[in-house]
Amino acid sequence: MVLTSYMPTRILCGENCVEKNADVFSAFGKRALIVTGKHGAKESGALDTLLSVLQKQEISFEIFDDITENPQTRDCRNAGDQARHMQADFIVGIGGGSPLDAAKAVAIYASDDSMQASEIYTKAGSAAPLPVLLIGTTAGTGSEVTGVSVLTDSETGRKRSVKGKNCYAAVSFCDCQYTRSMPQSVRVSTALDAFAHAYESYLSTTGNDLSRLYAKRAIEIIWPQLKSYESGHADDVEYDSAYAASLYAGMAINITGTLAPHTLGYALTEEYHVPHGVACAVFAPALLRHLWENGGEQKVKELLTLLQTDLVSFSNTVLSLCDLSLTIPENKIEVMRERWRGKIASFEHVPGGFTDRDAVRFYQSLFSDR
Ligand code: NAP
Ligand code: ZN
Repeated sequence: MVLTSYMPTRILCGENCVEKNADVFSAFGKRALIVTGKHGAKESGALDTLLSVLQKQEISFEIFDDITENPQTRDCRNAGDQARHMQADFIVGIGGGSPLDAAKAVAIYASDDSMQASEIYTKAGSAAPLPVLLIGTTAGTGSEVTGVSVLTDSETGRKRSVKGKNCYAAVSFCDCQYTRSMPQSVRVSTALDAFAHAYESYLSTTGNDLSRLYAKRAIEIIWPQLKSYESGHADDVEYDSAYAASLYAGMAINITGTLAPHTLGYALTEEYHVPHGVACAVFAPALLRHLWENGGEQKVKELLTLLQTDLVSFSNTVLSLCDLSLTIPENKIEVMRERWRGKIASFEHVPGGFTDRDAVRFYQSLFSDR
């Protein structure tokens, strides 16, 4: 029996969990910086709810709403400055994975005024960050329950993760009503992301009994939902179970980390602005074929049995939902190879291993102009 894990975040779930737990906010102090983007927090109603809770609790606040998709270190550092200047006691992040990850970074920058934007990747553990409270508005990333913040390094344009004990929220509020306003494309992309977390974790060599339990639960919920999206029956997908599944999947990757598709997906997002969930899930069929041909046949069969499908139907469903038609010149793919050389954990954790050669092959099979 192996259950090794660490996830210190208090999770508060259910309808109106923000209002019902208003006192939780005042336990963290009297001044808050709200970190968010321009759409999700407002369109979901989460921002209005939070503001009324803070007012009732007599907590003063400022709002930083310049967080973009795939958040930039530069913006997070600016928000950190704002938090320090207003002497914020805590940070509240509202949104999908981008604002939630940004909130974690803002809390780190706020606690160290000497930290340059790009230093967060190496110095995130140097000082205790401000406490972070999160309110999710998408059902995908699981950032609510992971010790990870994925940031775009404003100096290089590359997405990289900051990880560790300073990247956990103190409290995450998970009320699926805030996910109802997601545009359909975000709903599908975030579901694909949650699915990618679940199946990658399930297959990872770093899995243990607990991660597989979480991953299996997530897969069992999400796969039928993906089939509903594929057949045009989005109304059949319950918001509550979709959100719960994204949290199970998040708890699974919090133990195992992700596999090669996530690393490969970052390049698609950086260079071609492909949404994160699509960018990662599009490599799922290729990964299963790769495992099948490299000694992992049993693992793939186990997964397909769980999904009650076969490899061809699996590929059709995932690729039709990704709906990605992209051509990348062969010479550009060769240039991209550089980023996949060296020691990459998500490659090493693929059963049987994964190399830069495999990465190039995956790109060629999906996107080559030849
Ligand atoms: P997102 O980038 O947070 O949001 C995508 C878009 O949807 C944004 O325009 C956003 O608005 C909008 N939106 C979000 N919720 C909405 C709602 N309820 N109603 C209307 N619009 C809404 O998307 P995401 O897929 O949740 O997050 C992706 C990011 O998370 C990536 O950077 C990825 O690398 C990261 N990630 C992190 C982890 C982790 O463990 N920390 C795991 C996986 C992925 P706004 O402009 O207001 O934001
Ligand atoms: Zn992801």
